[in-house]
Parts: sequence; structure tokens; C-alpha cells
Amino acid sequence: MIPFLSLKDITAKYAEEIHQAVRRVVDSGWYLQGAENERFERHYSEFIGTQYCIGCANGLDALIWIYRAYIELGIMQPGDEVIVPANTYIASVLAITENGLKAVLVEPNPETLELDDTKIERAITSRTKSILLVHLYGRCAYTEKIGEICKKYNLHLVEDNAQAHGCSFNGTRTGSIGEAAGHSFYPGKNLGALGDGGAVTTNNKELADCIRALANYGSQKKYVFQYCGRNSRLDELQAAVLDVKLRHLDEDNRQRQAVAAYYYDNITNPLIKLPTRLPDQNNVYHLFPVLCGSRDLLQQYLKDNGVQTLIHYPIPPHLQECYKGVWQVLSLPITERLAWQELSLPISQVMSSEDVEKVVEVLNGFKI
Ligand SMILES: *Cc1c(COP(=O)(O)O)cnc(C)c1O
Repeated sequence: MIPFLSLKDITAKYAEEIHQAVRRVVDSGWYLQGAENERFERHYSEFIGTQYCIGCANGLDALIWIYRAYIELGIMQPGDEVIVPANTYIASVLAITENGLKAVLVEPNPETLELDDTKIERAITSRTKSILLVHLYGRCAYTEKIGEICKKYNLHLVEDNAQAHGCSFNGTRTGSIGEAAGHSFYPGKNLGALGDGGAVTTNNKELADCIRALANYGSQKKYVFQYCGRNSRLDELQAAVLDVKLRHLDEDNRQRQAVAAYYYDNITNPLIKLPTRLPDQNNVYHLFPVLCGSRDLLQQYLKDNGVQTLIHYPIPPHLQECYKGVWQVLSLPITERLAWQELSLPISQVMSSEDVEKVVEVLNGFKI
């Protein structure tokens, strides 16, 4: 079976350096808020191209803290609206609603699968304060038009960069385009820890200071609590591992891009539709989604022929039970169609060329 993703192989690729880093932390006797966090935060902010990076417990928290900081700083009020793509992973939406803000779901473009910038303006009201732009599947979702809309309507642009570490827009890394960005280091992400982890990047000092406090019980000075925060810190072990993997991230992403290029050049089955192709630097291929009208049949066929695939995501946020009754008269036909047509092929920095070739060969043999 060709696995969808082998975390074991991904870790093994840099096993020596990772073991060294882990040993260093274990032997140091210092496990939280120390030199490892400081080093990783410095390196990651340099990599993304922002002045500040704040490590935190996970990607969901990173996004929650950004909006919580806007509220604490008086820039947003509960009840304000945030535009977010309707086909995103639930965490993007949770970060908005967790803060008492209203998530306004906007359809993606069916060719790119990213937020449709022609549908944003009609969703804007007097309470719209922000766009949460998700670089879904590792593709850059930013467009000049989105930048213009943010300027015109005074919207705070926040990026969900959980799936797009290392991606760029015309040479600017995603995660440095908006006012702030949330990053996830969930093990399966392009830059993954050996457990949970997350970070916020920003150039805004007030936001950075507030977020650092919020993720540390609301405290900037020991035993002085300015906000009602939580314990949401990145630990030293994860920071040390992430610092190792960050050194190889561009190289790992290039290997993902090579797999994707082979898929684009060789998948010829007319039953299978690929998203429009972007220049390599604009897509780090966290996932490789394809669309198929007989998706479930295709998935079973691939499984029977030794290829494991996953669906991202089978139920969109507005149809989840946790949001029952929240978006009552909402028609999101593109999002719903993607939920029953999307299938993610295996892709990673450790996939062998034989496996990539086999996936294509099996895929091209699919008939109904
Ligand atoms: C993974 C992910 C998150 C959440 O990250 P966690 O670290 O798992 O909390 C947020 N948004 C998107 C788009 C993601 O894929």
C-alpha cells in the first residue's frame, strides 16, 4: 500500500539532527520558555519575513489569540464580522466564533479551490472588520484584489498559514502578507512538530505583545496578569525539533513540488480534474487535491489498487452539528460540491518516484 503520508519516514529523513536536538533539551533541564523557543521564534520570523513570532500551543490557538488580541486592544468588538472561505478546515471558523465574532462564509473559486475574490465585496457589511484568508492545500490564496478590498473597506487581513509554510506571493512569504498570521505545526503539516505546536507572526508590536501575554496566562510580567489568558505555550522540545526541520523546509517543499509537477504533467484521465496550476513558489502542496464526480468510487478503486487517499474535507463547517442553526438560509453550492468531489492524493517530501509513478498509472486506469 502506498500510504497517504508516512510521518515515520518524514522524521527519519532528519533523524540524526532531531535526536541531537531532543537530547540537548532533555539534558538541559529547561523545558519551557527558554533558549529553544527564542531561537526557533527568531529563525521562523526571519524565514517568514516578519519582525515578531510568538510560539504557542497549536494552530487553532494561534488564530484564536490573533482575534482575541484585536478585541483586547479595542480594534474589534464581539459581534463584528470576519469573512472566511466556506470550504476551510473547521479551525479557521472556530477561531472566529470562539471570540464571539461572526464568521461570514464566502465561496471558493471552483478552479483554484481558494477564496473567490469576486464574491468578497457583496459579503461586506458595516460590521465587517477582517478577512481570514486561508492558504488552503498549501496554495497562496492572496490576490492583488484582496489587498485592494482590505484597503478600501479598512479590513484587517489575517492569514491562516497552517497549510502553507514556505509558500510565497511574488517573493513575499505567506504569513507576512497580512497584519498577522496563524501557523500550525501539527505533525502532518509541511513544517510539523512531534506533537502539537503553533505560532503567530506579525509586524505589529502591540498585537505581538498582547498575543504573547494571552498565550501565557495573560501575563507580561511574572505574577502580574493584564488579561484573562490561558496556558498556550510551545514547549522547548518541540521548538528544538521545529528549528531542525525549518532548516530543511524549502528543500522539503521543493520535493513536494516535484511530486506535484509529475502529477500535473502525467494525470490524463478525463474523469479527474486538477486545480489550476500555480508557479512553484506560490504552492507548497501541503495536499494535492483532485476533483472527481465519482469520488467515492475512485477512492475505493485506488484503495483496491494499493493507493491510500484522504478527503479534505467531507463535511463543510456550515453543515457541522456544532454550528446547527448558525447559518440558516445559506446556499453554498460550490463548497458543498467540493465536499463530495474532493480527493487528496499522496504527496510528501519522502515519496519515492516509483510510488508517484504508480499513483498516476493507477489513476489513469480509472473508468466508470
Ligand atoms: C491544521 C489547521 C489548523 C489548526 O491547526 P492545529 O495545530 O491542528 O490546531 C487551522 N487551520 C487550518 C487551515 C489547518 O489546516
